[in-house]
Amino acid sequence: MHTSESILKNTFGYDTFRPLQNEVIENVLARRDTLAVMPTGGGKSLCYQIPALQFDGLTVVVSPLISLMKDQVEQLRAFGVPSVFLNSSLSPQEYNENMDYVKRGEVKLLYLAPETLLTPRILALLSEVKVDLLTIDEAHCISEWGHDFRPEYRQIVEVRKRFPNAVCMALTATATSRVRQDIRHTLKFSTTNEFVASFNRDNLFIEVVPKQDPSQQVREIVDRHKDQSGIIYCFSRKQVDELAVYLAKRGYSVRPYHAGLDDVERRKNQEAFIRDDVQIIIATVAFGMGINKPNVRFVIHHDLPKSIESYYQEIGRAGRDGLPAHCVLLYSYGDVAKLNYFIDQKEGDEKRVAIEHLNAIVRFAEDEHNCRRKPLLNYFGESYSADTCSNCDNCNSAPTPLTDVTIPAQKFLSCVKRADEKFGAGHIVDVLLGSKNEKVLRWEHDKLSTYGIGKELDKKQWMHLARQLLSMGYIKQDGEFHTLSLTPKALEALRKREPIFGLMKEAGRVAKSDGKKKAAELEYHRGLFAILRQKRKEMADEAGVPPYVIFSDRTLTEMAAYYPQSRESLLTISGVGQVKAQQYGDAFLAVLVDYCQRHDFKEKPKEPEVVRDKNDANRRYMIVGEAYNAGETVPALMERYHVTAGTVIDNLSRFMATGNSLRAGADLREVVKASATQQQAVFAAFDDVGTLRLKPVFDQLNGEVNYDDLKVLRMMYMIEMGGR
Ligand code: ADP
Ligand code: ZN
Repeated sequence: MHTSESILKNTFGYDTFRPLQNEVIENVLARRDTLAVMPTGGGKSLCYQIPALQFDGLTVVVSPLISLMKDQVEQLRAFGVPSVFLNSSLSPQEYNENMDYVKRGEVKLLYLAPETLLTPRILALLSEVKVDLLTIDEAHCISEWGHDFRPEYRQIVEVRKRFPNAVCMALTATATSRVRQDIRHTLKFSTTNEFVASFNRDNLFIEVVPKQDPSQQVREIVDRHKDQSGIIYCFSRKQVDELAVYLAKRGYSVRPYHAGLDDVERRKNQEAFIRDDVQIIIATVAFGMGINKPNVRFVIHHDLPKSIESYYQEIGRAGRDGLPAHCVLLYSYGDVAKLNYFIDQKEGDEKRVAIEHLNAIVRFAEDEHNCRRKPLLNYFGESYSADTCSNCDNCNSAPTPLTDVTIPAQKFLSCVKRADEKFGAGHIVDVLLGSKNEKVLRWEHDKLSTYGIGKELDKKQWMHLARQLLSMGYIKQDGEFHTLSLTPKALEALRKREPIFGLMKEAGRVAKSDGKKKAAELEYHRGLFAILRQKRKEMADEAGVPPYVIFSDRTLTEMAAYYPQSRESLLTISGVGQVKAQQYGDAFLAVLVDYCQRHDFKEKPKEPEVVRDKNDANRRYMIVGEAYNAGETVPALMERYHVTAGTVIDNLSRFMATGNSLRAGADLREVVKASATQQQAVFAAFDDVGTLRLKPVFDQLNGEVNYDDLKVLRMMYMIEMGGR
């Protein structure tokens, strides 16, 4: 009897489950109909593939994307799992062959398009075999509320009745509760069999950079990712084509992808990208649905996406393999104006919704203060409670200190008032700047007392201030015409002349972050990695499959970190199962042995994954906490687990927060960079405002002490207070 764990390790070569995978698998094995909701890259496929290997009978997988079916089957076969697909892309002969395999019970998994499943021929075939599991991939297609409703999906329900003994499993990456409810309702699943994973993708470094010279900025980002796959999203086909020409001229390996190209060319470009023949795809939003490429290392948004939902979906295509990936949004207010222009052509509800979506992504892009993950996850109804994620620009850069913006804020608010609260921010700013444009003159706003009193700031700075006043609740905005009006809070502030603090942009500020990733990253030998990658490419081309079907980047990274020299050691590497070791092992071992001999490298034993692995998150902090109490120092823990000081501190904080006490020691203080006086001030602030949140303390110290230090100091404070 094979357990799920042993299949995970022996067949797929992975050490631990991703969050909820095991729970979902257990539920399916107990023959309960199951809905699993996980983000892209969450590892949905294993949730039915592992049970498929444990059931006697056949697992049928219904999937709407023909290109993904082929990809899944290729990957499964490389792991030694017998599987086939049936769809319109096959020749009649291949089709019959695959039907025969199924009939003879020689395959464990059968992939089908929904319309194929509904044909009499297939229904007859399936009545001859034992179907144990019916998997409905992309299950949101069942819902009219989803973004991709497919009527055929509704009929699957009828088909299901023909297999009363098969357990049914639905999978989707669409998190909205409306869609989930629809799926459960249609398939008659109970809510207790629903598993919803967190949509946080903590390997993505999320960054927003002011757009200044976009072509040049794109080049700089791409240069930081030499030889790594990436996607650049643009607003229009024209921009895609222009940027593609610009980059190609400068020697970059790029291809365009958009609806204006014919089918053949689009497919060719996509294929070249998947096979690592081309490094970068420049695309409109149309790109990404039908691809499964796990090693996309960066996604650049050359232009502002129209909603948080599409933004999150697009950056979600990066780093599906769980390795660090970099997401950069180039942001300018000009893009907002452009999108507004298109929205203005719409009407009614559609217009209102589009405005709401745009406002949300603008608030996200303009927030220079809070962790980027908060608004993104809030949007999906998930709260992100950590103070900082250590993997976004706002968490990693010292936040800009707040400044006193009372005077400009008062000018702005009075101008809104003087203009009778009937105008949008753009017009108010024009009045403050003393513009003589047609609208200002038509309304005789050049006669207002606030006309031309704001020349100390430029237009961008005023707009930035306006958005802060909005988010601080001094003004509110009417959806359709963006009209501003004052709130009671503003009237109060004006009357009492209360000081107002905010961020003041310097005109034309440059990017504040260098995009360095702080996430725990395995140290590996880059030169050896490049050679292994080359080997993988040769073997993939020979077999006619994408390189990631042979081995993932993660697998090559570990090979280049641990230098395995034998079959046994190779089997400890993530992604190397029995069949892959047999099939490709020797070829890679030859490269590894040769390289290590020439460079006198020794094999390094692979330590069990502790801190790095998300699955062990529950035990991880315990292990770290206990190791620390046993006398290990922070630097020693950093080295042992290949993580940053921040991660060790986070683990220790969690250890304390769950009721354990930590030993007092001088070594914590060594990690702190703040001066002794600053440290005292921080402790005083904790006395004052408590230790629950760090932001009030950060603010009280005017941003002089960074969050990393504050976390350590909080811990020292709590140790001193006896863990309270
Ligand atoms: P999804 O369908 O949810 O987008 P996939 O099933 O395609 O995600 O999985 C994404 C990647 O993660 C694949 O390359 C897969 O092999 C890998 N993966 C899945 N589960 C694990 C695991 N437990 N450990 C390591 N890698 C995993
Ligand atoms: Zn963050």
